[in-house]
Amino acid sequence: MDCLFCKIVEGSIPSKKVLETEDMLVFHDIQPAAPVHVLIIPKKHIASMNEVTEEDLPLIAEIHRIAQKAAQQLGVSDSGYRLINNCGPDSGQAVHHLHYHLLGGAKLGALTG
Ligand code: C5P
Repeated sequence: MDCLFCKIVEGSIPSKKVLETEDMLVFHDIQPAAPVHVLIIPKKHIASMNEVTEEDLPLIAEIHRIAQKAAQQLGVSDSGYRLINNCGPDSGQAVHHLHYHLLGGAKLGALTG
């Protein structure tokens, strides 16, 4: 499968890893939009939030748990952070492998729509 994030999971494309578990990977975004900007991905290929199934729900819960841990490790637990998922063309989703952006390290701007 020609998926950029699957290649990052396999290690054929390098990434700056923050955390790794059996099912999850957290790595620094190559084009950070905030002082702290990491991506949280399940290792399983799920194209977008639209493709999440009942069977995937434990993975979705784990994303929140690993986000907590990453925030702690990156020192933004207390100052605060934002978790964002882009799904589909209007959101600007560029990589079709489920991922959540964790942003922090500065006062973040208001959400715009
Ligand atoms: O949510 P969206 O699909 O737009 O985000 C994809 C993100 O993946 C971008 O923020 C981009 O900088 C990041 N990226 C990355 N490493 C790559 C390719 C893309 O961190 N090799």
